[in-house]
Amino acid sequence: MATHNLAVIIKNPSDDGKFLLLVKQTPPPKFGDEEYDSYVDSDLWDLPSTQLSSLEGESQSRIVVEGEESCLEKLDLSKFDLNLALNQILQQVGFGRPSGVQWKLWKCVEEPEFGPGLPIKTVYISGVLGPEHGDLQGQCKWMSFQSCLNCLLEVKPCSDRVGSLVVIGLIDDSIRSSQSKIPHALNFQEYPPGVKVVPMGSRTAKPFSTTNLVIFAPESGSDGSTDSGFISQGDALIVDPGCRSQFHEELKEIVAALPGKLVVFVTHHHHDHVDDHWSLCRTPVLGGEEICIGGQRVKVIFAPGHTDGHMALLDVSTHSLIVGDHCVGQGSAVLDISSGGNMHDYFETTYKFLEISPHVLISMHGRLNMWPKHMLCAYLNIKCEASCGSSGSPRQVAKGMNMLLHIPHSKSNFTTSSESAISQDFSLETFNSSIVEFAAKDFSVQKFLTTCGIHFFSRWMWVYLTSHFPLKNPMLRTPAVLGAVAVGGFAVLYSIKHKLYSK
Ligand SMILES: [Zn+2]
Repeated sequence: MATHNLAVIIKNPSDDGKFLLLVKQTPPPKFGDEEYDSYVDSDLWDLPSTQLSSLEGESQSRIVVEGEESCLEKLDLSKFDLNLALNQILQQVGFGRPSGVQWKLWKCVEEPEFGPGLPIKTVYISGVLGPEHGDLQGQCKWMSFQSCLNCLLEVKPCSDRVGSLVVIGLIDDSIRSSQSKIPHALNFQEYPPGVKVVPMGSRTAKPFSTTNLVIFAPESGSDGSTDSGFISQGDALIVDPGCRSQFHEELKEIVAALPGKLVVFVTHHHHDHVDDHWSLCRTPVLGGEEICIGGQRVKVIFAPGHTDGHMALLDVSTHSLIVGDHCVGQGSAVLDISSGGNMHDYFETTYKFLEISPHVLISMHGRLNMWPKHMLCAYLNIKCEASCGSSGSPRQVAKGMNMLLHIPHSKSNFTTSSESAISQDFSLETFNSSIVEFAAKDFSVQKFLTTCGIHFFSRWMWVYLTSHFPLKNPMLRTPAVLGAVAVGGFAVLYSIKHKLYSK
């Protein structure tokens, strides 16, 4: 079973087909809240596409797609209402029902098993249509292949974005590196160009069963220079190699195929992100450091909340944010209170991510998210309803104001069914036997002590005291900073050459 989509590559005849027709994508609905609605993701342009529905009965005059038999193994187009889907797309762009267009199969792509829910199969077809076929709608524009590439690789924050259908359908084939091969047994997705995401089977929490291994291997390659401004330099970087032991062979193959010096980054210490087999020199990071990979800058972001020492990574040139477990592709994000995860840090980090204004969020479980600000606000919105109190807001909690602890639930509330996880109800819950929420009322020390360890209590005390007795001198906050940094050691960097992985 899978969800099937049709994507159409419309080329302009006036320019040797170099110009592609892109459609401005509809953003998710607004929240109806002044604060959240003020965070707006920049315009996203992608190939026109729609979902394919199964064919009811026989189609009288089905559109013929040249070469469609070549994708029979992956997808039998004759079982779908291609006419309906194509008409929807052409009307959407303003071309009506043009006749005499020769449609050709471009490719069929099956996405990796990000889970939960059905995987998506996308069939790409191409045709040449020009201004004579109709009047383009205002939500469409022609873009050259090169300008799409520039949009993706030299990102200016808040500028227009180009979506994944363009990259997976068109750009991947032209720039996919021969050096960094992924074993055939593993399906992966590359978006933006140079950033590969491979879901690897892992010992993670349900409803997910994989952890995304992120492989960052820009095409430019290292120029061999050394710059003391970087905490580490290499030719490729992988993030969170915490797969199950039966995938270790594939992991070895991936590592062996990567060029030159490899840097390994671990967002946090959970066993589905790193296992005990990595026994190399470690470099602790605090956030703010930069790593140079193949001549490109990757910035470490201190991002506690899920755990105390949790780190994120920003690929500066593509402005993609690798968020670790701060967000997941669908459904719930979890806070691990036994490792210092807490809502105050979570909200603070969420606001930090909103300020960064990333073009795409890459989480370690599930699909990447093309509407980062909307997703981050959805987390704030849902959680605030339960945790901020009637007069509070996530912003106040992030600043340490107006909060006490409220620990009302049991593990039974944690998402166990894939149905609830694939719905769009974002929530934040914990790995442990209780859910920690911040609220302005109903705080019970007794309940709190029975549910939390001394570490979390001391942490709460610190936040509570500093929120009620603000410290003017920033140096006085140092103990808290040091505490966070100590746990930040869980986010470690290993720098090695070639054979870095030993069982
Ligand atoms: Zn985790």
